[in-house]
Amino acid sequence: MLHLYNTLTRRKEPFEPLNPGEAGMYACGPTVYDYAHIGNMRAFLFADILRRVLAYNGFHTRLIMNITDVGHLVGDGDDGEDKMLVALRREGKTAYEIAEAYTTAFMEDIARLNILPADEYPRATQHIKEQKEMIAQIERNGFTYSTSDGVYFDTAKLADYGALSGQKPEEKKAGARVEMKEKRNATDFALWKFSPEGAKREMEWESPWGTGFPGWHLECSAMSRAYLGFPFDIHTGGVDHIPVHHENEIAQSVGCCGVNEARFWMHSEFLTMDGGKMSKSLGNLYTLRDVIAEGCEPLAFRYLTLVAHYRTKLNFTWDALRGAQHALWRLQETAREWDAPNIGCAAYEERFLSALNDDVNTPQALAVVWEMVDDAALPSAGKAQSLLKFDAVLGLGLDAFVAKPCSVPEEVRALIVKREEARMQNDWDASDRLRREIEAEGFLVEDTEQGSRVKIKHP
Ligand code: AMP
Ligand code: ZN
Repeated sequence: MLHLYNTLTRRKEPFEPLNPGEAGMYACGPTVYDYAHIGNMRAFLFADILRRVLAYNGFHTRLIMNITDVGHLVGDGDDGEDKMLVALRREGKTAYEIAEAYTTAFMEDIARLNILPADEYPRATQHIKEQKEMIAQIERNGFTYSTSDGVYFDTAKLADYGALSGQKPEEKKAGARVEMKEKRNATDFALWKFSPEGAKREMEWESPWGTGFPGWHLECSAMSRAYLGFPFDIHTGGVDHIPVHHENEIAQSVGCCGVNEARFWMHSEFLTMDGGKMSKSLGNLYTLRDVIAEGCEPLAFRYLTLVAHYRTKLNFTWDALRGAQHALWRLQETAREWDAPNIGCAAYEERFLSALNDDVNTPQALAVVWEMVDDAALPSAGKAQSLLKFDAVLGLGLDAFVAKPCSVPEEVRALIVKREEARMQNDWDASDRLRREIEAEGFLVEDTEQGSRVKIKHP
């Protein structure tokens, strides 16, 4: 049975969807004022693996991922510069153009990582009505107050505010560098912010409270409710979302509907750089474009994220990525030589499933994969069948390789035949020269008892 670690209860719990057969899942999506970096991609890859694990367990899943296309403030609080305005200044485009361009880039990135598309990608700017309705309900239930710059959620009115992080209000206050201004409590957050007096924002909307824009926690509650209904099964995001964003989403759903919006809250740990934070200012913030420029396949990055459990930090280095790339190539090249899939290996399949069902233990699952691949006693047709099954979760695109020998161009084939002839005549100089010519074309020849075998030569 599938067990998942629930941040809310701090333990692994057996998972069954609320509606039998269909698991509803909401993953916090990208902010689209810039390219997503590979740290973000780790969070999205986790949501993808989790969803594939659910499917592997026979649950039909419905995955919703929001696209944050509305301007929000640089800080986690309600102060600071608007991120969208920063991008506008940088690129001289309209807010909608920027959001569109980076949404397209995001879709390209996730396709390259073999992340299955979500069922819906709702945009914050297209769900202003739902967000306003939610504020109105929270207001009717008595959880809001107004200040000169917006409508705020009064977190002191919720008995278990802070339950997700386990932080007490005093701890939160100490951790947050928020300016109180007119706020009643340090943890209170804006549901609606007013446009500055006399200034027109490019993205602003009329509302019963005044012209302005939604607070940045609101879209996820409003859109998960619209697409999945409360409560839904699983909400995912990176660990940085636990103390503020998700705490506030819970406050909103309780304030609006008296229920915690999700039953399971699951959080993936950070991808770190040299043990520390990734940031533009440190010059160590990479995107998938940088991965490709380094000569690595996006799927090597996917493989790298599988090597670590999602609840542990993963330290990114280029060497680690190259290591993942070599492992992936070995898997591909080995699988090419197998016989056509037939009768998988039940013992390995069981161990693979139980690794994944223990809170998505991908490193353990990968260890099972390699043990099977290297098991000389197992017929290759069985390995082929099981590996294809495993790849429904791993998502490494192995169907293009399993039992599919590499296609060798005519001229290379001719060189191989010539080399065989040279070897028959014990002409080792010619044989070596031909081997080098074949390698220059990007292929390796291996001499086996059954004759020579060709493989792709990886750098
Ligand atoms: P954002 O676009 O900033 O909202 O981030 C998108 C997702 O990436 C969120 O789930 C974040 O928690 C997550 N995230 C941000 N930085 C990192 C990082 N360095 N490693 C892993 N996940 C991250
Ligand atoms: Zn969110």
